[in-house]
Amino acid sequence: MVLACGLLLAGCSSESRPAARGEERMRLVAELESKGIGDPAVARAMSEVPRHLFVPDHLTGQAYDDRALPIGSGQTISQPYIVAYMSDLLDLDEGERVLEIGTGSGYQAAVLAELGAEVYSVEILPELTRRAGANLGAAGYKDVRLRTGDGYVGWPGEAPFDAIIVTASAPRLPARLLEQLATGGRMVLPMDGAAFSPQWIWLVTKGADGVIEQRRMLPVRFVDMTGEIRDKAKAK
Ligand code: SAH
Repeated sequence: MVLACGLLLAGCSSESRPAARGEERMRLVAELESKGIGDPAVARAMSEVPRHLFVPDHLTGQAYDDRALPIGSGQTISQPYIVAYMSDLLDLDEGERVLEIGTGSGYQAAVLAELGAEVYSVEILPELTRRAGANLGAAGYKDVRLRTGDGYVGWPGEAPFDAIIVTASAPRLPARLLEQLATGGRMVLPMDGAAFSPQWIWLVTKGADGVIEQRRMLPVRFVDMTGEIRDKAKAK
């Protein structure tokens, strides 16, 4: 498919129109629903965001396969099922403030924006922040706030957040992020398991009484969260 596009279709550039490839998105959404994504708002958001604008040019043919893809700098755009699953767990209401750690391609941020959230996203690699900004602009999501930095410390100047999503796996719950979660807030993040065990997605909630609850949800495979949290993990 990628080759056919590259060799035969001079019109490949028409893919840059955000509305294009809607049928492929509908097929992908049907596949996600068959895998258990039941929330209509999440399904609608997934059917709107043009994932082909968030993957490298040579991979646009695979943009609507339900799989992670490389985006350069050793990083990946997450599998659509995982994006939908984590978005669903965040249980967002229109206008809520969401912090994402690990902007990557910007795709997850676009899905959160499509869900009506006010999105703040932090990426540690400047090259990826730059590209994500371009991707989000091309796809029409101009209000997503991006910042390059170590997401381990969150975005204190904009806290608190109603929801926090981390898209790189941490060795433990980042305390600074928990501090920046509003009362009643939800945080969804992958965390490393013990040696040789899988990572899991966790749902962490901060109740009205300030009580933290943690639920282990789904085994996954994410890239590692880098930066200060790893230095500290090593130092232990
Ligand atoms: N959400 C992305 C997928 C991200 S892959 C998408 O939709 O495409 C994980 C990303 O987390 C990578 O881009 C990686 O560079 C970034 N990352 C890793 N450690 C980080 C940290 N400490 N702070 C911010 N970003 C980090």
